[in-house]
Amino acid sequence: MVLNQELIAAFFEEQPQPAFWMHPVRDGNNSIVDFEYAYCNREFYAYTRLPSETILKKRVSDSPLISSDTLRKKFLVQLLEVYETGVRTQDRLYNPDLDRYYSYTRSKVHDGVLTVLQDRTEEITIIRQLEEQTSLTQSLLKQSANGITVTEVIRNDEGQVVDGKTILINDAAAQYMMVSKQDYLAKTIAEVDPGIMESELYRMSQKTLETGQPFHTQYYFEPSGKWIALSVSKMDDNRLINIFTDITETKTYELEGMLAAERLKAVFNASQSGMFIFAPVLSTDGAVIDFRFVITNPAFAAYVGQTPSALQGELGSTWFPGYLTNGVFDMYRTTYLTGETSRKDIHYNVDEHDLYLDLLSTKVGDEVLITFNDYTAVKSSQVQLESLVQELKRSNSYLEEFAHAASHDLKEPIRKIETFSGILQTSLMERLTPDEARLFERMSAASVRMKQLVNDLLDYSYVSTTTPLQMEPVDLDERLKLVLVDLEVQVEETAAIINIDPLPTVTGYRRQLQQLFQNLLSNALKYRKVGSPPHIQIRCSIVTGNEAGKAVPEAGADKAYYCIEVRDNGIGFEQQYADRIFNMFQRLHGKQEYAGTGVGLSIARKVVENHNGVIWAESTQGEGSSFFVLLPVQQV
Ligand code: ADP
Repeated sequence: MVLNQELIAAFFEEQPQPAFWMHPVRDGNNSIVDFEYAYCNREFYAYTRLPSETILKKRVSDSPLISSDTLRKKFLVQLLEVYETGVRTQDRLYNPDLDRYYSYTRSKVHDGVLTVLQDRTEEITIIRQLEEQTSLTQSLLKQSANGITVTEVIRNDEGQVVDGKTILINDAAAQYMMVSKQDYLAKTIAEVDPGIMESELYRMSQKTLETGQPFHTQYYFEPSGKWIALSVSKMDDNRLINIFTDITETKTYELEGMLAAERLKAVFNASQSGMFIFAPVLSTDGAVIDFRFVITNPAFAAYVGQTPSALQGELGSTWFPGYLTNGVFDMYRTTYLTGETSRKDIHYNVDEHDLYLDLLSTKVGDEVLITFNDYTAVKSSQVQLESLVQELKRSNSYLEEFAHAASHDLKEPIRKIETFSGILQTSLMERLTPDEARLFERMSAASVRMKQLVNDLLDYSYVSTTTPLQMEPVDLDERLKLVLVDLEVQVEETAAIINIDPLPTVTGYRRQLQQLFQNLLSNALKYRKVGSPPHIQIRCSIVTGNEAGKAVPEAGADKAYYCIEVRDNGIGFEQQYADRIFNMFQRLHGKQEYAGTGVGLSIARKVVENHNGVIWAESTQGEGSSFFVLLPVQQV
């Protein structure tokens, strides 16, 4: 027995685990009230870091090893239970002094309880770490904005991949694919997407599984309307990791950018204007000394008889040596240096060219965009036109001068013919046969008419040539009064009734305006109906060019005009002749009944034109006529 005890003691002494044996402490009633350390092995002392005397005989209730009352209580209950039931118990504890975890077993041995501790620190640390990693992975998967799934392949008996199954899917992935996680995990991938086994995606995944090379792809996922970037990499022989990223925003920008670039390219290529981009060529000290073609549009390339690719990279001075000195290079350089857009009309008469160019230079990035139009053809026809107009003006003014001089110089001989034929007629009167006397009369009537014609022509040439006079305020009421004074005799003779609205003061040529109304009123009196006295009305209103409904110059459409109407109740004329009567010598009525030269309305039209106005006539044969005169309220 002694041998046995020693053996057991030696056995425990050699144990690599800390162990101690406690036996119960009883009170007077033989009830167990505590347990005391009766035996501890070497490992236990090492574990407690205390000498044997401080532990042996100590009870649970005053053990220096137990840090709290709760623990004391727990241990006592455990010890008592094991002692009384004989059933082995197992538990864990943490030793803060050693910072180690232990598991321990308590079993009833002899008349006490043996406790054996087992150091579990390594194991628990690993479990903790594993738990930590798992929770990290879990929250990473949960929080990740990227969709993450793991697919495990399903192989047939020959080991070929025939399908797959998602064994992990995070919230984002489920969202991207618009399926519930449960669904995805429950079904095989072919069940989720029947077409997948024939897809390019499947082929590439298979390759990744075989080669270990990850692949990246982008696709548009119609159901969600999103662009997805997918990366697939091999996890092991049977599993693939798939990472989904929503790239809709970037992709949209990219697509918009591409579209904008496409559009710009189309505009650039289709433009009829020549366009090219110039990059500066710098000297060693950084000064801009030339430019190089970066890109040219077909219109420009065709202009210089080249293709855009032939020009690319060429120096500007190679094609246009003269541009360095005629101001064009300076223009581009200034745009390059200041960033300011510049537009110039250039007469490009260097390099054996004689061109008129409209050039526009704009800085784009670190380069200069040049747009140009060759308007040489327009320019030369403009120059031709201008010289034609000059020519016309010259010949017109010669003509007018000639008419003026001719009619002026004719006055004198006519006056002589008139005087001498009068003298002759008087002195020959008695001797003349009636036929001869009639001839004389016709001769003198012809000379009167000639005089009239010459006077009218002189008036016409006067209004045509003397416009350079300064305009002045002209009171039309006053002018009309003077006209009526001149026409007093005719008014009286014909018993005409004349009503005149108050008329405005306009800016114009006094004498010409008086002449205008003189002609209109004298016609209204002259072309009266036989038997009924003329009734003439002069009315005035203000209208815009648009309202007048007549061909006012386009610029006058919104301008205000005085509209003066001279209306008579005379013989009128057919409306179809309304324009023609303003031409020189145009008469609708015979000179036998109505004396006249056909110049009066030509003068009227010239006067109105000199005042930037419009004149026209409206008439009904046998009922009367209206002559309308538009005069601008404000002359420019
Ligand atoms: P003239 O009166 O000297 O013939 P005008 O140039 O003044 O020349 O007029 C041209 C023609 O227009 C006239 O010959 C006449 O036939 C016609 N005419 C002008 N005014 C009137 C009018 N108020 N009523 C009818 N016909 C007119």
